Amino acid sequence: MLIDFHTHTSASDGALSPLELLKLARARGVGMLAITDHDTVQGYLSAARELDRHASIQSDLLLVPGVELSCRWSATTVHIVGLGFDCSHDAMLSGLSTLAVARKERSETIASRLEKLGFAGALSGASVLAGDGQLGRPHFADWMVAEGHVKDHATAFDRFLGQGKTGDVKAYWPELKQVVSWIVAAGGVAVLAHPLKYRFTRMKLRRMLTDFVAAGGGAIELTSGRQGLEQITQLRRLAAEFKLEVSVGSDYHRDGAYFPPPGIELPKVKPLTGVWERWLPQSHALMRGATA
Ligand code: MN
Ligand code: MN
Ligand code: MN
Repeated sequence: MLIDFHTHTSASDGALSPLELLKLARARGVGMLAITDHDTVQGYLSAARELDRHASIQSDLLLVPGVELSCRWSATTVHIVGLGFDCSHDAMLSGLSTLAVARKERSETIASRLEKLGFAGALSGASVLAGDGQLGRPHFADWMVAEGHVKDHATAFDRFLGQGKTGDVKAYWPELKQVVSWIVAAGGVAVLAHPLKYRFTRMKLRRMLTDFVAAGGGAIELTSGRQGLEQITQLRRLAAEFKLEVSVGSDYHRDGAYFPPPGIELPKVKPLTGVWERWLPQSHALMRGATA
């Protein structure tokens, strides 16, 4: 069985609609899926409604409530994936509306900075591309490509939008401990997304994990997108040391070289605990049958 606890739809910056993602996941044999759009549960909610309408998909696919929340830790934007929480819990609802305001203000700041650099019409252009989805830097990148300002998405991030560049506006995000508290209050598990992507020193990463655990964080991603064996080994050690569960996800946004397709073979993680074990009714049978 394949599992995946980190994917995106058009409710944030993914290419596929929630139904298209469900169909792709099912076609690939994904048995457990979380849709973790940036700062919104609309992708999950709409997929859950689609599942009610498509009994054939529902029978083989368990959809776990999910979201990927933006926050701030030590002047860096950090992503926390929330899994298995109650979407209608007050703490989650007010948290998501805080993030929606933060995201809107941030987009306006990114746009005005880009406009100062001479890229007029950034806000309206990127908003059109985002459609009903949450507006974010990828939409600004897409707009810059569409307008011919840069040759591709990666160049837009390298030169204007990536970490430390003009468009990297992070001051508005709430703090990590707040975001973790919303997920925990709503009955979910807070998962530190792609822990190595922040490029912290070992010492700084351990400081973040200490704060994450103190805030109620429960798991870290062992794989996210493409990950080498050496990185997985490092993350397994950290999970054991900080007594955290582990999660896995593709971080799928769209087809292409950067993101693997949705679905990861159910890994053997003993003596660690996979977040998925709480959603596996016949966990022991499945774990025994799983390949490494
Ligand atoms: Mn994204
Ligand atoms: Mn992320
Ligand atoms: Mn993601």
